Amino acid sequence: MASFIVKQSAIKTIIFDFDGTLAKLNIDFHQMREAVRKLILSYGIDGNELRTDYVLEMISGAETILNRQSAEKAKKFISEATDAIEKIEMEAADHGELFGRTRELLNTLASREISCGIITRNCAKAVKIVFPDILSCCPVVVCRNDVKKVKPHPEHLNTALNKLGGSPRNTLMVGDHPLDIQTGRNAGTRTCGVLSGRCPKDDFIKAGADLILPQAADLLDIIK
Ligand SMILES: [Mg+2]
Repeated sequence: MASFIVKQSAIKTIIFDFDGTLAKLNIDFHQMREAVRKLILSYGIDGNELRTDYVLEMISGAETILNRQSAEKAKKFISEATDAIEKIEMEAADHGELFGRTRELLNTLASREISCGIITRNCAKAVKIVFPDILSCCPVVVCRNDVKKVKPHPEHLNTALNKLGGSPRNTLMVGDHPLDIQTGRNAGTRTCGVLSGRCPKDDFIKAGADLILPQAADLLDIIK
């Protein structure tokens, strides 16, 4: 942690996760997983065989299996799975809100000439509901619809970095889930876990985060 403080002046770009990091959404991931598991089962696939608890990876695994049978069947499945998870995401967005200091955080970082981007596994429609003026506060927002491979695959983070003209070694990835730390490490950035979501500090220590803060807005005390 001390070495991070010494080197923080090298941070020129910050990439944020959205849900739990900049906004409170309360997506019911259990409900989402069950809805997808049920749909997958209706296509004759046992969801437990997919060996992942992450909904997007479950969908993608089932799509691969179905594609071997029929491209049309796989396409129909993707459309139904997308509808099922978007319904839950939109419900959460309707009741979601930005954290109190999110606009201040993004605007102040911009005034300090730190480039900011947001990457999220959520859909663009839900993000827009919670943060309608997002592009006026943050120039680059990459939702799951915008990339082939979502985080923790580094393509998601690199897509945002390329748009911002940033480089991994001067970048900090900030998120409320160990998956965000893994994403940063996969892309070669430095990483910061925030405790404003559902994950405890220990999860970020185990994930190897360079920095852990109570909330993203606390970065304003560190990145000057
Ligand atoms: Mg999150």
